[in-house]
Amino acid sequence: MVVIGAGVIGAATAFAARRAGIEPVVIEARPALAAATTAVATGAFRLQQNDPDELVLVRETVAASHDFAAFTGQSTYDPGARACGLLLLTTDPDRAAVQRHVVAHQRSIGADGVEILHGDEARRRFPYLSPDVLQARFRADDGVLDPRLLALGLLAGSHAPVVTGCRAVGFDIVSGALTGVRTSLGTIQTRCCVIAAGPVSGVVAGLAGVALPIHVLRRHRVVMPDVPLVPAWAPLTYDEDTGAHWRAGLKGAYVLLSHQEQAPDEAVDDPAVDPTFPYQVLDPASPTAVARLSPFWRDVWRDGSASWTVQCGMYTVTPDYRPLLDETPVPGLYVNTGYSGHGVMTSIGGARHLLDVITGRPAENPFALDRQFVPPPAGTL
Ligand SMILES: Cc1cc2nc3c(=O)[nH]c(=O)nc-3n(C[C@H](O)[C@H](O)[C@H](O)COP(=O)(O)OP(=O)(O)OC[C@H]3O[C@@H](n4cnc5c(N)ncnc54)[C@H](O)[C@@H]3O)c2cc1C
Repeated sequence: MVVIGAGVIGAATAFAARRAGIEPVVIEARPALAAATTAVATGAFRLQQNDPDELVLVRETVAASHDFAAFTGQSTYDPGARACGLLLLTTDPDRAAVQRHVVAHQRSIGADGVEILHGDEARRRFPYLSPDVLQARFRADDGVLDPRLLALGLLAGSHAPVVTGCRAVGFDIVSGALTGVRTSLGTIQTRCCVIAAGPVSGVVAGLAGVALPIHVLRRHRVVMPDVPLVPAWAPLTYDEDTGAHWRAGLKGAYVLLSHQEQAPDEAVDDPAVDPTFPYQVLDPASPTAVARLSPFWRDVWRDGSASWTVQCGMYTVTPDYRPLLDETPVPGLYVNTGYSGHGVMTSIGGARHLLDVITGRPAENPFALDRQFVPPPAGTL
C-alpha cells in the first residue's frame, strides 16, 4: 500500500495497514514528517461528540493514546495524552438552552461524563472564570495530547519505509483500475494507494480524475510559550458565544478561534498567516478575545511581556463534517481525509475503519463517498 502524506492521518493509515497484514510505504512531499496541519493542531480530544459514528472513532483513538506504548509497540514517541477536561462556556440564555439540548443528545448516544454546570458552580471549580459566565458544559476526561508525537509514534510503530521529499504527481490507471503512483522520484507500482494528503487531498484525488466533496478553511493558532499567569491545571476553555478558546501548553498556552462563519479558502500546501489574528484573540478590546470569559488574559495583555508566534493550517471539511473513508471510483485508490477539524482525535479509529473497508470487513460504511451528506445543526461543537 502506498500512503500519500505523513501527517497524523497517513501515519495512522500506515499503522493500521501493518496491523491488518498489509505492507505500507509512506511518501511525504515535505522534507519533514507531520509538519503540515498536524503540526499546528490544538491536540484536543473529546468524547463530547454529537455524531454516534464519529464517537466510535474518537473512543478508539483516545483509548489507544492513553496506552500508546503498548498499542504501538514503541516507546520513542509519547503523545502525552492527559485528561485536563474540556469546558465550554456561554453567557447567553438561548445558547445555554442549546447546551442542555446538546448534552442530553450526547448522553443519549453514550457519551458519558458530560456535565452541565451553572455559572456559580463553574466559577467554584474554575475560579479564573468571569462573573458573566451563565452556564458551562464540561467533561473532565476530555483532554489534550501532542499531535506530532502521536503521528511519529504511529509511523514508528508501523515500521513503514517513509520517503520524504517525495511528492505524488499522478496515477497510472489501466482499464479503470490503479496500477501505480507516479512520484517526483519515480513510479511505484501498486494496486492499493491511500490519499491522506490533508487539505490538498482533493487536489491529489483530482490527478486521478476523482472529485472529492471537500472544501478547506484556514485556522490559526497563537503559541505563547511562557505565560506564568496561565493556570497549567486548567481545562481547555472554550467560549461558545465567540469560538475563542485556549488551553495550557508549554509554560504558557495555545490560543485559537473557531469562526462561526467563514468563507472557504484555496487548498494550498502552505497557507499564509493573517498577521492580525493574534489581536483578534488577545486584545481585550476585540469581541472575540479570550479575556472576555477568562479575565486573567486582560492582565497578560496589560503586562505585555509575553511573547507569541502565530501559525496556521487548514481544516479539510466535508458537507456533514464527517470524514471520507472509502474507495474512490478508481478501484485500488482510497481516501482517508475530510476530518473537518477532528482528525487528531479520530485518527486511529478512522484509519482502522478504512482498513476494514479495504479488507472487506464492514457491512455498512457511514463514511462512504456516496453517502447522503446531512449538515450538522449550526453552532454545535
Ligand atoms: C488550527 C488547527 C487546530 C486543530 N485542532 C485540532 C484538535 O484540537 N483536535 C483534532 O482532533 N484535530 C484538530 N485539528 C485538525 C487536525 O489537525 C487535522 O484533522 C489533521 O492534522 C489532519 O491530518 P492529515 O494527516 O490529514 O493532514 P496533514 O497533517 O496536513 O498531512 C498531510 C501531509 O500530506 C503531505 N502531502 C500533500 N500533498 C502531497 C503529495 N502530493 N505527495 C506527498 N505528500 C503530500 C503534506 O506535506 C502533509 O505532510 C486542527 C486543525 C487546525 C488547522
